[in-house]
Amino acid sequence: MKKLLSILLVLALLVLGCALAEGERVTAQGVGQGIDGDVVVRVEADANTIYAVEVLQQNETPGIGSVAVEQLPGAIVAANSIAVDGIAGATVTSNAIKDAIKQALADAGIDAAPFEVAPEAAAAAEKTAETLDCDVVIVGAGGAGLTAAVRATQAGAKVLVLEKMPFVGGNSLKASGGMNCADTKFQAALDITDSGVPQFIEDTMNGGHGINDLALVTTMAENSAEAVDWLESIGAPLPKVAATGGTVHKYLHSPEDGSPVGEYLVAKLDEEAKKNGIEVMLNTTATEILMDGGAAVGVKAEDAAHEYTINAKAVVLATGGFGANFDLMCAFNPSLANAVTTNHPGATGDGILMAEAVGAATVDMDQIQLHPTVYQATSMLVSEKMRSLGAILVNQNGVRFTNDLATRDAVSNAELEQPGGYAWIIFDQNLVDNNKSAAKYIEQGMAVTGDTYEALAEAMNVDAKAFVKTMETWNAAVASGEDAEFGRNNGMDADLSTAPFFAIQIAPGIHHTMGGVKIDTATRVIDTEGQPIPGLFAAGETTGGVHGGNRIGGNAVCDFVVFGRIAGANAAEYAGAEELAPAA
Ligand code: ADP
Repeated sequence: MKKLLSILLVLALLVLGCALAEGERVTAQGVGQGIDGDVVVRVEADANTIYAVEVLQQNETPGIGSVAVEQLPGAIVAANSIAVDGIAGATVTSNAIKDAIKQALADAGIDAAPFEVAPEAAAAAEKTAETLDCDVVIVGAGGAGLTAAVRATQAGAKVLVLEKMPFVGGNSLKASGGMNCADTKFQAALDITDSGVPQFIEDTMNGGHGINDLALVTTMAENSAEAVDWLESIGAPLPKVAATGGTVHKYLHSPEDGSPVGEYLVAKLDEEAKKNGIEVMLNTTATEILMDGGAAVGVKAEDAAHEYTINAKAVVLATGGFGANFDLMCAFNPSLANAVTTNHPGATGDGILMAEAVGAATVDMDQIQLHPTVYQATSMLVSEKMRSLGAILVNQNGVRFTNDLATRDAVSNAELEQPGGYAWIIFDQNLVDNNKSAAKYIEQGMAVTGDTYEALAEAMNVDAKAFVKTMETWNAAVASGEDAEFGRNNGMDADLSTAPFFAIQIAPGIHHTMGGVKIDTATRVIDTEGQPIPGLFAAGETTGGVHGGNRIGGNAVCDFVVFGRIAGANAAEYAGAEELAPAA
């Protein structure tokens, strides 16, 4: 009896002990540092379980950080662990959410250590094989892929889009300037008559040092006005027009409200894709092109839980460039090993490698563009549009050193010759008032500022006398319309005289891979024998030839819209889509 009582007592103590160990379920808030300010998170937890995570406040990048805000709290609750993988491409936001959770737990007196143990590796689990069928499979949901998907669906095809990242948009999402187009109704409305198709072709060829594929450049220029009309037809007009780097001509079309063009177009294309019922499979990586009798008939792909065989009548590669694949870039240009890159982490050249594996030819793989204005600490690109709107570049001696709006390769090379291999981009409050990106750079702490030129010089630690003289000389050049020092002849509509003044320290960074899969003007992938590979199409940065040895600003967007549309229409036609819609 005594023994029974002591067993009961031990059991009672154990139950009580467990209850105490579990502790009280509490709600607490914590703060983490995001890409653009505080990320405030509310957590509901006890000692053993995280029951809920909610992001209360954030100002993260739409389409990138915002994906972490949407997906990570649920993943953490499901795994009951903070040690889940962050969202690829959104590391800063992912870490901010995790830090905020840890802070909330600490404030609530809960030990975070048990939640910092990684959940069982899901990858170890066997993947389920699944087969899917469609007319056209599109690999990559950046600008080219989304455009091709919408166009192919308009042409009556059943489309499936695969995207390896947790979000759509790729590098296209980062395009901040505009879309070059010639002979558009928006140019006509602004009486721009000297910037038509012939000038566009000439500037693109000159910018690319003449090694571009002239047939592709001509196709791009001739179809650009129709492409801009098509964008308007899906609710994405680009009515503002300015000159871009490397040309005096005005083709650079951008949104009315000054929004960065990439975010604007990707959001509209994504919306249109959803309206058309197009399925975009996120977190799904294509690994191989399926071939039958020399023709492309689908792809193999995988996500965390599945291995897919996707049967299709046509395949469109829209996987973007390889500006985040240092092994591949260094195989062509070893000097890039230590450069920063503006590219998103998914820009690894998968489409080029998959196409080569089925016999595709490549062109210009060694042509890798450095962009001259990259903020090195975060690899954030400072848009060329800043200079189109009037910004200038000065070196650490406080003086200009080049035509600031020459082609990107020329400006990058000039910068690398300056003391320290870097420069400052100078702008004023008037420019900030006309450009949303400029305001964002300031918010993100990238700029130093001063109410006078002297004060800005001090903040930049450059010689004030030299800098004041540089600014006065520049403002006089704008007034006279003539840059006697360096012959700059565009982006001179406004001077830099409105205080306060700003400067961002920048240097060249890897930006665009001009080379890639060889295509013809119908976007058919060409093999090493010079013949099209039946059923295989490609568009956008994954292709080579359009930009030659140097891409001019605004041509990446034109490339992805024009060739994305051609690829979508032709892949649908090849797949025998029934209801061919009118070309526009
Ligand atoms: P483009 O301007 O040519 O559209 P982007 O970089 O904008 O180029 O888009 C390419 C997209 O393709 C990116 O979103 C990238 O994550 C995606 N991608 C790259 N490789 C693969 C792959 N193997 N499977 C699925 N998607 C991929």
